[in-house]
Amino acid sequence: MVERAWTIGVDLGGTFLKLALLNPAGEIVARDRLPTGGFEGHDAVLARMAEGIRRLAAQAPAGAVGGVGVGAPGIVDMANGVIDDLPNLPGRWSGVPVTAMLATATGLPVRLINDARAFVVAEHRLGAARGADTALCVTVGTGIGGGIVAHGRVLFGLGGAAGEIGHQIVQPGGIACTCGNRGCVEPLATGPAITAEAIRRCVQGFTTTLPEMVGGDLNQITPELVDRAAEAGDPVAIGTLRDAGYWLGLGLAGAIGTLAPEIVVLGGGVARPGGCYWRAAEQTARTHVHVCDIDRIRFVPAALGYDAGVIGAALWGQSEGSG
Ligand SMILES: [Zn+2]
Repeated sequence: MVERAWTIGVDLGGTFLKLALLNPAGEIVARDRLPTGGFEGHDAVLARMAEGIRRLAAQAPAGAVGGVGVGAPGIVDMANGVIDDLPNLPGRWSGVPVTAMLATATGLPVRLINDARAFVVAEHRLGAARGADTALCVTVGTGIGGGIVAHGRVLFGLGGAAGEIGHQIVQPGGIACTCGNRGCVEPLATGPAITAEAIRRCVQGFTTTLPEMVGGDLNQITPELVDRAAEAGDPVAIGTLRDAGYWLGLGLAGAIGTLAPEIVVLGGGVARPGGCYWRAAEQTARTHVHVCDIDRIRFVPAALGYDAGVIGAALWGQSEGSG
C-alpha cells in the first residue's frame, strides 16, 4: 500500500504549468498556475517549475512533502525520469533528465509520468474508476489520451505507453496523424478535428447557424460552440459531432473488445456527458462490440475534471510504483 505523505503534482501543459499540493487524504489544499513559456527552453521551464514546487512545499507542514510527480504530454522514460519527446511543446525536449534536475533544485524525490496515464491514476484512485478491476479511461481534448486499469492497477506497458487508444487506425489511408500513421482515431475525433470539419462544412455552404454565431468569422468556431449549436438543433453541428463521435466509438469498440472492461470512463472538454459527441461514441461502441457482454459495460463521465492530470501526477509522486 502507498504511504500517505503530503505530495505535489505538476501538470506540464503547452500553455500552463499547473501545480497542486495534496494532503495525505488526497485533497488539494493549495494550487498554482504558471505560464509554461516553452519557447524559453527546458532549463527555464524547469527552473520555473522548481520555484513553484518550493512555494507549495512551504505551505505544507515542515518536512511533510514526501514526493513530487510530474505529468508530461508526450513520450517519457518513466524508469529513468527522462522526457524523450514533447511534440506539442516548443523547444527541444529530447533526453531531458527532468526528475534529476528537479530533485536537485527542490531537494525532493521526483517521479515522471505521461499526462494521460496521470489522468488514469487519478480517476482510478479517487474518481470514476475507483474500485474498478478493469477499466478503459479516455480523455478527449486537443488530443486523445487514454489508459487502462487491469486487475485493479494502472497498466503501463512497455515504456509506459499502454492505452493510446487514439492511435488505433480506424480509416486506413486516412488523415495523417502526428504519430506517423494515417487514419488514426485522433485526427478524426478531437476538438481540433471537430473545429476543422465544422469550418469545412460552413465553407461548403451547408445550411447552418454556425457562421451567424461567430459574426461571420469562422476562425472563432470552437468545439464548445459546435456543441451549443448542436443542442439548439443545428444540423451541421449535429452531423459534425456525430461523425467525430463515431470515429471515437470505433476506437473504443476495438479497445473494449481487447480488454472487456467493466467500465469506460470518458473525460476531457470535448466528451460532454449526454452530448451529441458522447452519444455517438457510446452508441457506436455498443453496436460494434460482439465479443463480450457490452450491456454490462457502463460508460461514465470522468469525475475529477480539470484537476485529474495534476492529482494523478501528485499521486504518482507519492506512490511506490504500484500505479
Ligand atoms: Zn496516430
